[in-house]
Amino acid sequence: MTLGSDVSGLSTEAGSAAALGLSIVVPAYNEAGGLQALHGRLITLAATLRQRYGLACEVVYVDDGSADTTLSIARNLPATMLDVQVVSLSRNFGKEAALMAGLDHASRGAVLFMDGDGQHAPELVETLVAHWIDDGFDVVYTAKAHRDNEPALRRTAVRGFYALINWGARQKIPEDAGDFRLLSPRAAQALRQLPERNRFFKGLASWIGFRQKRVDYEPEPRAHGFSTFSTARLIGLSIEGLTSFSVAPLRIASLLGVVLAISAFLFGLSILWETWIGGKSVPGYPSIIVGMMTIGGVQLLMIGIVGEYIGKILSEMKARPIYFVAEHTVKRAELDAGAD
Ligand code: UDP
Ligand code: MG
Repeated sequence: MTLGSDVSGLSTEAGSAAALGLSIVVPAYNEAGGLQALHGRLITLAATLRQRYGLACEVVYVDDGSADTTLSIARNLPATMLDVQVVSLSRNFGKEAALMAGLDHASRGAVLFMDGDGQHAPELVETLVAHWIDDGFDVVYTAKAHRDNEPALRRTAVRGFYALINWGARQKIPEDAGDFRLLSPRAAQALRQLPERNRFFKGLASWIGFRQKRVDYEPEPRAHGFSTFSTARLIGLSIEGLTSFSVAPLRIASLLGVVLAISAFLFGLSILWETWIGGKSVPGYPSIIVGMMTIGGVQLLMIGIVGEYIGKILSEMKARPIYFVAEHTVKRAELDAGAD
């Protein structure tokens, strides 16, 4: 038994790239308003891909415990040109878990992740597929071309986040990469094998390696409804990403501790110097209070950081399933006569 994993059997050279087909994974949480329109665009896409590459497509809608009619709408979508799977989770597990459920149920070779709100244009998929089939890339990811319409504070926070997470990392996570990405059959297989429960897809998809390709794009405005990712949720996701991908925060904690210890030592020396050589009496309490508050604050922060990692260990230890599927339906494609 080896401790690595060989997915070379699924490499493009081992068979024609398009032979296994493509699964499109769409997480949907309260997306009733726009699902039908999106499905229409996916049917057009599937027709184009079949014509151009002979690629058979499938779409996997993952209903992430929606409170609206998303599930019944998804079930009634027609399987024209492409197979339709609907996976309904037992409650809202969050986008990362929904993506995982979709990845597990995808039955074709390559896997494409796409949001259910119409922000990820199905038309761009043709470009992504071309990079996979024509140019042989394994992970084709999209990145926001620019963030000009976002507040400066948020842009700075994003830059700081990536600087921290990539600090000393062997495989850097590309800045601004989104979840809209295509994985070749072997890359998808590799991603399925990662055992962790706390998942940060952007990081994992980059960590697996293979030939990666960046495509810049402009996300469309949301077709309906509003984003479920509030600032608080984004901060949560950042902490999740940081603690599962890097020990940089722990390293910073240690560095800060060393810096504080050295300055305390120097400060002590200077006090001794003043009393013994200068003959001055030690000045009063402000310096003590400042010192205490600094050390107290820094200690609390560092304990918090360590706590994050311990929490992570706890949830990995419990080894609970990432999601529960409550219902699962599969509709095979009705193809026009003459097609396979
Ligand atoms: N989503 C999900 N579960 C959740 C939250 C969101 O499956 O708990 C899906 C949502 O339906 C959409 C995608 O994840 O397809 C992105 O969500 P959203 O548009 O709210 O985020 P944003 O585009 O602002 O990043
Ligand atoms: Mg969105």
